[in-house]
Amino acid sequence: ARQKAGRNNFRFYSPKINQRANQQLQMENDLHKAVERNEFLVYYQPKVDVSSGQLCGMEALVRWQHPESGMVSPDDFIPLAETNGIIDAITEQVLVQVCGHLTRWQEASLEPVPVAINLSPVQFKNPQLAGKIIKQLKKNNILPKYIELEITENAVADNLAATIDLIHELTDAGFSISLDDFGTGYCSYSYLKNFPVDKIKIDRSIITDFTENTFDAAIVNSIITLADHLGLKIVAEGVETAEQLKFLRDLNCHQVQGYLISKPVPYEQATEFISDPSLINGKVKASLEHDT
Ligand code: C2E
Ligand code: MG
Ligand code: MG
Ligand code: MG
Repeated sequence: ARQKAGRNNFRFYSPKINQRANQQLQMENDLHKAVERNEFLVYYQPKVDVSSGQLCGMEALVRWQHPESGMVSPDDFIPLAETNGIIDAITEQVLVQVCGHLTRWQEASLEPVPVAINLSPVQFKNPQLAGKIIKQLKKNNILPKYIELEITENAVADNLAATIDLIHELTDAGFSISLDDFGTGYCSYSYLKNFPVDKIKIDRSIITDFTENTFDAAIVNSIITLADHLGLKIVAEGVETAEQLKFLRDLNCHQVQGYLISKPVPYEQATEFISDPSLINGKVKASLEHDT
């Protein structure tokens, strides 16, 4: 009887499972079309240097302009793109778009800030990754000093030796490397030992409450201290309040990124940030004034 109930159960759930599978399949089809039709759009989120208040970089964050659903967030399609290999084509389109924007800024006599591009952990399984990125930049006449690559600990966890080789290939070519979402995985510290990164990005989840939560505050403090000892730059992600910014300044955090300064914005607005430094600088100054 039990087995029977189990079987009935299975049948009961199967339509839902099919529905989910169908949705996945539909999205996968749509993603393939999106690559062909160039439906991906790069937004930019500014990073600021805390002590000078100046714009010091921008992170490229991809969006999908779906013909029916409108703007789709990366959290809703990157995971699928990672499982079916489409991520390589998306990364390539992001790189091409960023190179195009960097070229346009240079042609307008604007000195661009470095742009950070996110790489997915699965991409490190491809030994050609570094070569492809280097080739693409050369083709577009962009110097590696304008590109930062963001990787997460997961990239390392899967295949340490191969990842280290790839990273060395990229740093040798002149790219700088950031460890993204730091503090969320296991054993974060041990990776830093073997890992030639230039920068650590403290994950937003640790920043959210650290001004009130003594545990998170201790973590932020220790990551900053560690980075200082290792000579690494430190960026705090997800800074939303003036209070967080002040705390981070007092802890000597080098750079911040978050809605307090700006949400990710389209190319046109990013161009304004580059051409008029007072837009960003004014926001930082205003947030740091009136010390409480
Ligand atoms: P991430 O690389 O950690 O990027 C930071 C995310 O936090 C972005 O979300 C950004 O909009 C958001 N964020 C920044 N400041 C704040 C803040 O103050 N408050 C809040 N609530 N959120 C903030 P987004 O753009 O939705 O991207 C999500 C994730 O998708 C990224 O996390 C990254 O892992 C992935 N992603 C985005 N673009 C790409 C890409 O081109 N390639 C790959 N492989 N992954 C990408
Ligand atoms: Mg990132
Ligand atoms: Mg992050
Ligand atoms: Mg993230």
